[in-house]
Amino acid sequence: MKNAKSVLKQVFGYDSFRADQEQIIQHILDNKDAIVLMPTGGGKSICFQIPALIFDDVTLVISPLISLMKDQVENLIANGVKAVFINSSQSESQKNEILYNAKNGKLKLLYISPETLVAGMQTWLQEIPISLVAIDEAHCVSMWGHDFRPEYTMIRELRKQFASIPFVALTATADKLTKKDIALHLGLNEPTLFSSSFDRPNLALEVMGNIPKKDKVKQIVDFIQSQEDNSGIMYCLSRKETEDWATILRNNGIAAEHYHAGLNPDERAKVQEDFVKDDVPVICATIAFGMGIDKSNVRWVIHTNLPKNMEGYYQEIGRAGRDGMPSITRLYYNYKDVVMLKDFASQGEQQEILLEKLDRMLQYAEASTCRRRILLAYFGEELTENCGNCDVCKNPPAYVDGTILAQKALSAIKRTEEKVTANLLIDILRGAKTAAIYNSNFHQLKTYGIGSDLNWNTWSHHITEMKNIGLIEVAYDEHMHLKISPYGNKVLFENEKIQLTAFNREYKVAEPKTKTKKEPTPLSTQEVLFNKLKLLRRKLAVENNVPPYVIFTDASLHEMTLELPKNSDEFLAISGVGIQKLENYGRDFMDLIKTHLDDNRPKLTTYEETLILLKENKTVDEIAQARNMQSTTVYSHIAKLFQEGYPIEIENFVSQEEINRITQIVSEIGETVALKPIFEALNGEIDYGKIRLTLTILDRAEV
Ligand code: ADP
Ligand code: ZN
Repeated sequence: MKNAKSVLKQVFGYDSFRADQEQIIQHILDNKDAIVLMPTGGGKSICFQIPALIFDDVTLVISPLISLMKDQVENLIANGVKAVFINSSQSESQKNEILYNAKNGKLKLLYISPETLVAGMQTWLQEIPISLVAIDEAHCVSMWGHDFRPEYTMIRELRKQFASIPFVALTATADKLTKKDIALHLGLNEPTLFSSSFDRPNLALEVMGNIPKKDKVKQIVDFIQSQEDNSGIMYCLSRKETEDWATILRNNGIAAEHYHAGLNPDERAKVQEDFVKDDVPVICATIAFGMGIDKSNVRWVIHTNLPKNMEGYYQEIGRAGRDGMPSITRLYYNYKDVVMLKDFASQGEQQEILLEKLDRMLQYAEASTCRRRILLAYFGEELTENCGNCDVCKNPPAYVDGTILAQKALSAIKRTEEKVTANLLIDILRGAKTAAIYNSNFHQLKTYGIGSDLNWNTWSHHITEMKNIGLIEVAYDEHMHLKISPYGNKVLFENEKIQLTAFNREYKVAEPKTKTKKEPTPLSTQEVLFNKLKLLRRKLAVENNVPPYVIFTDASLHEMTLELPKNSDEFLAISGVGIQKLENYGRDFMDLIKTHLDDNRPKLTTYEETLILLKENKTVDEIAQARNMQSTTVYSHIAKLFQEGYPIEIENFVSQEEINRITQIVSEIGETVALKPIFEALNGEIDYGKIRLTLTILDRAEV
């Protein structure tokens, strides 16, 4: 049996497994069922693709979106794997050919849509020899999410039909309900759950709060321009906004398109294709965009407004940096949008859940502690250290002792019997004279006005933070009244110390507002090479009719600029280069790298070129021949190099005896500038070059 690790290297070009990949593969090879939870870009595909290559028969991969199937199949074929997808849009003869290949060992992976699966389960599917079934996007079996696919519930029947082979279900959706549904509804056979960390350390997290529209436009335009032709997605709240932003960007010389569900299917497919093929770098889109896109080189994602919930936010930023290369995600929000989002959320069903999710999202945006910790905590994962790759970590806020402040607020909540909203609480603390306060007699509370030394915004900032760190909770089912948590009680009654961040509206706006025109910094030669490699990749992508990242990922190209591979072995050592890609593209990329190096080699003087050949132990005649010059000239080079102090072994070029004879003659006929009299006095037995060389040594000996 083939070894998983060597398949990883030879076919996919990777040296080592990530996270749980190896255990998952082994588990499947042991014929056992598994549920695999991994974030987007975590490397789920390899978990079933490698067993597929090791097993004798066909691996069936159930996948809900044609574009996803197409992408994976293209990637596999580029790596020399026999893979194909089958869906309802194919003709009978195409299907027959696929079936023929499947039955005759000419196919390793068969991708199938759930509809086609259901249609074929009782008929042709039974004829195919199957070793493994992989269920991609397995959360589609859950009715909880938005992606529910009724056909996925039929997989249960398939499990019964193929009782003796392993089934593996994979998803990037990790919430508890979905997890439970997958285990329950797919009918898997005592599946083992493999759950990887959902952390994506290569994604930089940034949040920009309450920035005036004009500054926001400028910041975004500057940012995208600094990204040059890198691919990125801008998520907007409404269809109209996608169009407006695309126009703004185009007016600033940025090639941008818009995308939303209002476009007709052809238009949508075109925009998607242009993006995937690196023809259009920027798409302004509603969240409808991205679902079926596996593009690995999305370098940035911007949200122009607060997303509706953390799940959506994480999924959307997750579309950046699947290749593991550093990528930037940036979220803009302002209170006006939040009010509007709250309005949306409070209409229709499930308002409480929607509002609570929106509120968690807002808390994340307003947080003054490491964002990644909050994000991962939301998904049930604990990060023990600050991440260093979010705006808060990079620009930490100042802290103040918040114990007294918090006690004032908590005690005010207590005295109102936990029946006030955050806004009313602030009014009480500040001693405001409003109808709401007088109607409830809050002006008679002991705590009325005890926080009048701080302004409204400062209190608002502190109370938000008190929510974030868990001192108070919001009762969504009780008119958003504030409740004191057990932790809050400790601070109030047991004098537990806490820290709060100083209120400083400016600190989140990391970028300077002043307009200083910077000279564009020239690209390093490494960046120049990277751009050349990208151009070559694009050319090959067009020729092969695949997206550029299918040829090589950005990560592979980047490694090439560092390693500068010269031969097949070195090229194979690049991560992401397997045998097939070496064969298909190695020559082109290595030639390009070589030309680039030649063009960038510092110009050598004619003496230095001779020196290089001397170091290779070439004789004077050989050098003269190689450089197409007289041997006298080569001797003069050697003399010059010797004069300049290069370590030249003179005896290699003129013997001690010759030196003695020349020295003799010189002492007889006296100092001379011309070489001819010496040459003649030696009866022409020692050539000019050697004479010049000897004179040079004598010269230096005298100094
Ligand atoms: P997912 O399906 O989980 O979103 P993919 O399977 O598409 O992720 O993998 C994301 C990227 O990571 C791909 O470019 C893939 O080739 C790469 N990758 C997967 N496993 C490894 C590995 N062991 N080493 C290096 N890169 C890997
Ligand atoms: Zn951080």
